[in-house]
Amino acid sequence: MFETLSDRLTSVFSSLRGKGRLSEEDINATAREIRLALLEADVALPVVREFIARIKERARGEEVSKALNPAQQVIRIVNEELVEILGGETRQVRFAKNPPTVIMLAGLQGAGKTTLAGKLAKWLAADRNTPLLVAADLQRPNAVTQLQVVGERAGTPVFAPEPGNGVGDPVEVARASVEHARRNNHNVVIIDTAGRLGVDTEMMRQAADIRDAVSPDEILFVVDAMIGQDAVNTAQAFLDGVGYDAVALTKLDGDARGGAALSIRHITGRPIMFASTGEKLEDFDLFHPDRMASRILDMGDVLTLIEQAQRTFDEAEVEKMASTMASDDDFTLDDFLQQMSMVRKLGPIGNLLGMMPGMGQMRDQIDNIDDKDLDRIQAIIQSMTPGERAHPKTINGSRRLRIANGSGTQVSDVNGLVTRFFEAQKMMRKMKNGGMPGMPGMPGA
Ligand code: GDP
Repeated sequence: MFETLSDRLTSVFSSLRGKGRLSEEDINATAREIRLALLEADVALPVVREFIARIKERARGEEVSKALNPAQQVIRIVNEELVEILGGETRQVRFAKNPPTVIMLAGLQGAGKTTLAGKLAKWLAADRNTPLLVAADLQRPNAVTQLQVVGERAGTPVFAPEPGNGVGDPVEVARASVEHARRNNHNVVIIDTAGRLGVDTEMMRQAADIRDAVSPDEILFVVDAMIGQDAVNTAQAFLDGVGYDAVALTKLDGDARGGAALSIRHITGRPIMFASTGEKLEDFDLFHPDRMASRILDMGDVLTLIEQAQRTFDEAEVEKMASTMASDDDFTLDDFLQQMSMVRKLGPIGNLLGMMPGMGQMRDQIDNIDDKDLDRIQAIIQSMTPGERAHPKTINGSRRLRIANGSGTQVSDVNGLVTRFFEAQKMMRKMKNGGMPGMPGMPGA
């Protein structure tokens, strides 16, 4: 996401770097380039205008003229203004004092509401909540079934009208679901409402009726980021028709430009609360304006990486890994395999690298890193006998041929892996002897 904008901005800044004082012309030229970058990213015009005006004003101010490194200051200002335009602080869910907290989803059909309902349920449950999903989309014939499928994957019960009782009234279903949640100790209710392909008054009225019946603690407007400026128009229509507290942006993974993300807050005055970045239930998180700005400016998003690790690994795994690192036994291919599968649990390797600072420049190479390469390495190790994994030195020529055949790879692949493994083993020995290899002043260096 945001690749286009990110590329443009990093090249604007690289032409600034190395300059001492910034002249009026430098500032104007930079502002012009940023303006073009934002327009190309499909950001709404009023937003672009205000953004540029603020950058210019601040770039002419003391913080830049007195700075030792003016270019760095301009980058800092752009970063701060990006955070601001994306909403400033991270918007957290407001839980009701008396449960259940009622969260209602509204948006066009295809926006990703049902998928988001499941993601939100799973995300809440990971934090010890006990959500209930509610099927109040009774317009589309298979909407209820779709929510049930999503609920099953998320491990969350679904409240839906009894089959055979006719179509049912979505307002009644919503009302009854809150009662059901109260009796069954669900502390959050997530209501999926009906969408249409385009904005229409009847859909708005139904959503407003559900809203009036259950008084939601949070109304989330769910919108597909890939529709660009249309997202902003639809957002305005829903604001007038139903009203909402916050926005959930979906399909950010398919949105190279970022226009919706950068415009919606400014135009609607409502913060973006959630970002959805893929079809899997895990591709979902709170929207953090500061981290997003950091990604756009290719400053990395290490915080998200760390949180993902904390969420993904359980304590036992971390302890096992730590004890492998600390033990006197030699590092084996089994340890290697275990470490690799831990890292892989965090997601596709390209996504992980994308969160490291400065990696934006290497996007093409990252895109070429194929998770299949890792599959191949795992297959090779799994084709070895336990003895070979524990004592890799015994893997001679004929064994390599057998392993290559067993794993559907070439002998050269096996050779490459064994060589790399011996390097890793050497590194581990050094680390076990104390200190990181090559770090001056540390024991063992
Ligand atoms: P609804 O009509 O608003 O309930 O939308 P759905 O939840 O049925 O989603 C419509 C389509 O978008 C489905 O094919 C989803 O798999 C897909 N989808 C939803 N969220 C995302 C996302 O964040 N990224 C991508 N790539 N696809 C998504």
